[in-house]
Amino acid sequence: MQKCKAQSGGYAKHLCPAMGRVVESQPRSNAKGLFMATIVSMTTGESKGTRVILKQGEHLKNGVVLNYCPFCGNALRDLSDETPIDTEEHF
Ligand SMILES: [Zn+2]
Repeated sequence: MQKCKAQSGGYAKHLCPAMGRVVESQPRSNAKGLFMATIVSMTTGESKGTRVILKQGEHLKNGVVLNYCPFCGNALRDLSDETPIDTEEHF
């Protein structure tokens, strides 16, 4: 089984099949669950990968970014570099 893989300086380049089956791409307002968005650098236009967020409980509004996949255990985010700040989301 292919595991999730984070790209250097960004978020997930690949998602494992288990994550791929549960993550949704279109967040509805106040929807609970796992959602993904493609992250793009606004200065270079370069893709920074797929960010997975969990919207639940006190994080229902903005969500909390998952650093690791709960299914395969691999990183969903490159934690060796600073989080990209000049980015925007594309759902
Ligand atoms: Zn995974």
